[in-house]
Amino acid sequence: MNANDQASYAGYRALMLVLFGRSGQPPAWRAQAACAGQDTEEFFDPKRIEDVKDGCAGCPVLAECRSDQLTWETSGQGSRRYYASGIVAGLSGPERKRLHYPRTPDRKDVA
Ligand code: SF4
Repeated sequence: MNANDQASYAGYRALMLVLFGRSGQPPAWRAQAACAGQDTEEFFDPKRIEDVKDGCAGCPVLAECRSDQLTWETSGQGSRRYYASGIVAGLSGPERKRLHYPRTPDRKDVA
């Protein structure tokens, strides 16, 4: 398995866990998800990023999905960096990573 495959696999696991839960039972909000029944591989296709993000932007459970995903990524269930791939809750892996690891402000930004 090469690095890209590993990243996709990790992202897939992350998406499955956030959307379906650890027990295999979906969270209550899942029934209202815009991506219900959608091919999850789209969430890892670089050519579909904007389409997937558009879908998430109109999703009625975006806030719940984002909260669960970000919580899960910081819950100690593995490396955040490892799982930070794919679009989940309208955020790319690098965007989620920046939320977890906010950059130190540039010197010019410091008052
Ligand atoms: S915000 Fe996006 S990933 Fe989350 S449930 Fe809605 S469509 Fe799916």
